[in-house]
Amino acid sequence: MQQYDVAIIGGGPAGSTCAGFLRKYNPSLKVAVFERERFPRDHVGESQLPVISHVLHELGVWEKIERANFPIKVGATYRWGCTDELWDFLFVPNFVDEPRPAQYGGQRLSTAFQVDRAVYDKILLDHARELGADVFEETRVLEVLREGDRVEGLRVAPVSGDDREPEVVRARYYVDASGHPGILRRAMGVQTEEPTSLQNIAIWDYWQNAEWAVSVGTGGTRVLVMSLGYGWIWFIPLSPTRTSIGLILPAEYYKQSGKRPEELYREALSEDPLIASLIASAEREGNLATTKDWSFVAERMLGENWFLCGESAGFADPILAAGMSLAQLAARELAVTIIETDRGRHPKQWLLNEYAERQDRRIRQHIRFADYWYAGNGCFTDLKEFTREIAHDAGLEMDAEQAWQWLGTGGFIEEDAGGAGIAGFSFGTVRSLNRLLINSDQEWSVANANLFTLKLEDARRIVRAVYTEGRVEAVESYEKDGKRLTLTGAAGTLIPVLRREVQIDRIMAGVLQQFAGAGTRDQVEHYLQLCYECLEALVADGWVKARRSKNLPLIEMPVALNRVVGMNQDIKEPAHEAVS
Ligand SMILES: Cc1cc2nc3c(=O)[nH]c(=O)nc-3n(C[C@H](O)[C@H](O)[C@H](O)COP(=O)(O)OP(=O)(O)OC[C@H]3O[C@@H](n4cnc5c(N)ncnc54)[C@H](O)[C@@H]3O)c2cc1C
Repeated sequence: MQQYDVAIIGGGPAGSTCAGFLRKYNPSLKVAVFERERFPRDHVGESQLPVISHVLHELGVWEKIERANFPIKVGATYRWGCTDELWDFLFVPNFVDEPRPAQYGGQRLSTAFQVDRAVYDKILLDHARELGADVFEETRVLEVLREGDRVEGLRVAPVSGDDREPEVVRARYYVDASGHPGILRRAMGVQTEEPTSLQNIAIWDYWQNAEWAVSVGTGGTRVLVMSLGYGWIWFIPLSPTRTSIGLILPAEYYKQSGKRPEELYREALSEDPLIASLIASAEREGNLATTKDWSFVAERMLGENWFLCGESAGFADPILAAGMSLAQLAARELAVTIIETDRGRHPKQWLLNEYAERQDRRIRQHIRFADYWYAGNGCFTDLKEFTREIAHDAGLEMDAEQAWQWLGTGGFIEEDAGGAGIAGFSFGTVRSLNRLLINSDQEWSVANANLFTLKLEDARRIVRAVYTEGRVEAVESYEKDGKRLTLTGAAGTLIPVLRREVQIDRIMAGVLQQFAGAGTRDQVEHYLQLCYECLEALVADGWVKARRSKNLPLIEMPVALNRVVGMNQDIKEPAHEAVS
């Protein structure tokens, strides 16, 4: 082993994605990944969000993942919130059947995968190797050698079957992508914060030949998230024959139950009529696993020559299925940060601050959103005190209007959602979810107003990093009351138009003009929809004032905005009594 530019601890999604992007955008970098396991190895956390598909595509690995024939995740079906009827959240409202393997384009831009992590993580790690990273499997990082806030080297050794002495590896930069153990984070004495009272444990196993609740086209399905009175079950098909089924419970409930995980797991699966019917003829693999899954965020994301990336930096409750998204988005941004730091086009401290702040903000926003999901779940009939406590500790009272404002404390303008949203969910989706989670059906001001005035006078002008393909761009941005407005995505399209127009029909015409001749009809419609949502979020965040003039017409809202979340139509639930 030799001297490296970047040494990465851990070959999970964060480590392999970071290594892959480093090599893709600067093939002269010497990058090493140290992974204690030999892949393939099982790992919990299999349900993705569509934002990962963009990262996989940019990394050049989407087609390989598609060829692995993982189920296409077209959305999720829930028993959750203020109704115990099933409802759906659809990434693609009208998924059209098409042959697989498909290309990354059209409707597949908006879908995700449900991945068997043994297979998925290996494809990613092999891809990093193909891009030129040195990958050392079955090689454990035993010790982080430090001098103050600087890492001086990593002491690494083969895991077994080899009596070589540990060696010291040195690099210019070190990345902790070791996941939950947080090897470097702990070595550097970085504390973690738990900004929520949500403390759950997870119990899971894998099943062969469980039925799918629903099949959508070739290989498409939705994951199931089923509330019980005291917790919830995930049901995630990972291949045509293998399914991950897990149970999440509050740690306190688990302790008080006096039951063993096996007993709780069996009881839960037989209690939910739909899950019980889907596994009636299935075989369990029989490797029950448990873990605590408490949300946390590291107090620091980086030091003199080191960075935290992925789950070592923070974790948000699995209800959002966001772990891989957080890990792979961070890995992409970190790779580009390191490359730009070497390039010297931007001040180093600004690049580092942007990376650190962005991760901290994103993880905290996800934790807040998870609190919102739990606090609003009326299906937790045995956990009323638990949900009340979460709501109270989070500062979230269950009055719908307050809850909405609380959710938007950090602002609804968000780059990960293409302009506006929360935790990667678009603003329109979050509005629709609001109806099912806390029974609040707010009106859209873009449907009820026709004059929109930009209000940037009292905002502070700042410069924010936007991560493009292999580069960081400094982009005009504003800050006010802890909220941010970066002129990128839909906001980047809308703000220049709002600087010259106030009438809604002219604003939308101005937006449309930017697409003259560019993009398919579907793409233009999709982008227009993003702009409507973004305008609504600009109003909600106080960047734009909306008014109504009786002399001017209103505009019609795009229908698609209302089709993303709705009551389930295609799953027939078995009668409870029929299940033994
Ligand atoms: C119950 C539960 C359910 C979840 N559900 C989902 C979900 O549905 N969707 C989702 O996106 N996410 C989910 N997650 C989260 C997801 O699993 C993680 O966020 C994701 O794996 C993080 O990726 P990572 O690369 O940061 O860490 P990991 O995937 O954990 O990878 C870290 C790697 O580092 C290696 N390593 C550790 N220590 C050392 C060492 N000393 N030396 C060398 N190598 C080392 C490990 O072997 C491992 O391969 C869930 C998590 C839990 C607990």
